[in-house]
Amino acid sequence: MKNWRLRPGQGRMRSILLSAACGTFLCLTACSGQRGDEMTAYTESLFAMDTYMTFTAYGANAEDALKQVCDRIAELEGLWSATDAGSEIYQVNHSGGQPVAVSGETEELVSFALAMAEETDGALEPTIYPVLTAWGFTTDENRVPAGNEIAERLATVGYEEVNIESGAITLEAGAMLDLGAVGKGYAGDEAVRILKDNGVSSALLDVGGNIQALGTKPDGSRWRVGLKDPFSGGVLGVIRVADEAVVTSGSYERYFIGGDGKKYGHIIDPATGYPVDNGLASVTVISGEGKLCDALSTALFVMGLERAEDYWRQRQGFDMILVTEDGNIYVTEGIKDQFSLQGEYRDMTVNVVEFE
Ligand code: ADP
Ligand code: MG
Repeated sequence: MKNWRLRPGQGRMRSILLSAACGTFLCLTACSGQRGDEMTAYTESLFAMDTYMTFTAYGANAEDALKQVCDRIAELEGLWSATDAGSEIYQVNHSGGQPVAVSGETEELVSFALAMAEETDGALEPTIYPVLTAWGFTTDENRVPAGNEIAERLATVGYEEVNIESGAITLEAGAMLDLGAVGKGYAGDEAVRILKDNGVSSALLDVGGNIQALGTKPDGSRWRVGLKDPFSGGVLGVIRVADEAVVTSGSYERYFIGGDGKKYGHIIDPATGYPVDNGLASVTVISGEGKLCDALSTALFVMGLERAEDYWRQRQGFDMILVTEDGNIYVTEGIKDQFSLQGEYRDMTVNVVEFE
């Protein structure tokens, strides 16, 4: 077994590399054996939803379709940013308990997040925002809050109290919504829809680490999506996908080290108000729908290994790859044949999670 070591700042490095590509527009020749527009790849990069995104699509309409995708994502960000005073979510969060009329998209995403909160028994908690703020994750001024402060903030949390009726959302005064765990997934699904509407049948989208594949590669083979080693940032394995999303949650990219020397990640266990610390290093979910992957990757990370396995058996409709802090890998049986370890990781044991 490989000895994994934590290398802080690895996530930032990736952002810096991508930022170099931001705003550029590339036109590449993808693969031989095909002719004309079928083999032309277009790439667009943008910074949105607090992260870098890079989209590559193939074919005649790819260039125009990707521009539409970028516009649409900027539009969604404008609706959902928790920090931008002009966004719908900001308005809802600062309404002092009054109903706020929202767009169809916002209603749809909030309804979805509430349904997933219910389904995951509150592991996904779209009203966790006040707790997240106490830990400084929304301002990058991280701190370990006192126990009573966490308890006070937790008292405002509860997806059951969110009311959606005839296009308006009402929160209890003091409660706040945060779509950070599901927004990128929804945006990825929208991107795929726009590309399809424009006749694009092959694309690979990196929506801030959420990968969404449309179709296959132009040559008909599956896309190869790298699974990151949560400790070094290296490529642990490859997942071969077509028409699927691959979404990872973990505490290895957004975290801080407290004065006590402990590592605190940005995913909060709503049962305690503390960052998740249950032995999982990362959770990757694979399914046909980005928003489902996004909601579940966050929720399963909160649940921990055993609850996540039980949940998968009972719910089905997705696959997952879990990496534990002690360096074990668990892969559900539906994806095991499409997953392979890479390079120096090849000799590790892959534990297959079965239906039983
Ligand atoms: P990332 O955004 O890094 O890809 P996730 O999809 O897992 O990762 O979303 C994490 C974000 O979700 C956090 O930054 C925070 O905004 C929010 N969040 C943290 N804990 C929870 C939780 N238990 N339920 C719902 N949202 C959460
Ligand atoms: Mg998520």
